[in-house]
Amino acid sequence: MISRAKKFALFLLGFLFFANILAWVAVFEFSKPKVLEVCFFDVGQGDAIFIETPERHQVLIDGGANSKILEKLGKELPFFDRSLDLVILTHPQKDHFAGLLFVLRDYEVEQILWTGVENKTAGFEEWLKLLEEEKARIVLVKKGINIRAGSVSLKILFPFEDLAGQEIKNINDTSIVSHLSFGKNSFLFTGDISSSIEKELIEKGIDLSSNVLKVAHHGSKYSSSEEFLEAVFPQLAVIQVGENPYGHPTKEVLQRLEKFDINVLRTDKKGDIKVISDGNNLKIEIED
Ligand SMILES: [Zn+2]
Repeated sequence: MISRAKKFALFLLGFLFFANILAWVAVFEFSKPKVLEVCFFDVGQGDAIFIETPERHQVLIDGGANSKILEKLGKELPFFDRSLDLVILTHPQKDHFAGLLFVLRDYEVEQILWTGVENKTAGFEEWLKLLEEEKARIVLVKKGINIRAGSVSLKILFPFEDLAGQEIKNINDTSIVSHLSFGKNSFLFTGDISSSIEKELIEKGIDLSSNVLKVAHHGSKYSSSEEFLEAVFPQLAVIQVGENPYGHPTKEVLQRLEKFDINVLRTDKKGDIKVISDGNNLKIEIED
């Protein structure tokens, strides 16, 4: 039989060992360089973009079509971190919101930003239910929201008006478009907008220029017009795409990107694509 004193000593040892690990994890976290990380996850056909600011704010734009997002977040976040500062749903279509159902069940989310547009599709009722249960601050995008998180700013460029409660036929064209900037670097996130919304953005005279473009609608030929690519003029275009029956990414879009000499990275070819910015330069990390 182990004596009480021995038991206590073992407990103390175990406690100290665990506390030591935690301390090292904390040291590791604080010693991370002050950079912005934007990770385009390979979640198959769908979007899921994880952003970590230099001040360690964590933002997720869309969650892909299934539970793959949990494995991806698990790789980016330390095991004890089960919270996200902000979740943005660009539009309630399966390949963008179904993964967020898993995220809302497993993570504590502080704020959720979406348009409030209706979509009578599988899982939508569940999305509304989870929104209620999450106790997060729900922000419905109207227009001109500018989110500041430390040294990073995220500007919501579209939609131009309140869509809450509305049923809109072309749900892709309700996608939240946002512009992230840090120092001299910037990123444009386009959801699944088509060229007609791209045209509206250009006609409004909105500054779209960005270093990195998330190619709209997985490379559909009805998006990424020449005019739009010219206005954004990115050095890098990322296509989030997986196996699909639509022919995404289309050869038309790949040709347009090539015409403007834009580097293209695809999640179906490269896996997770991480773009790291120090405010001046971009570095790309690819995890196959
Ligand atoms: Zn989509």
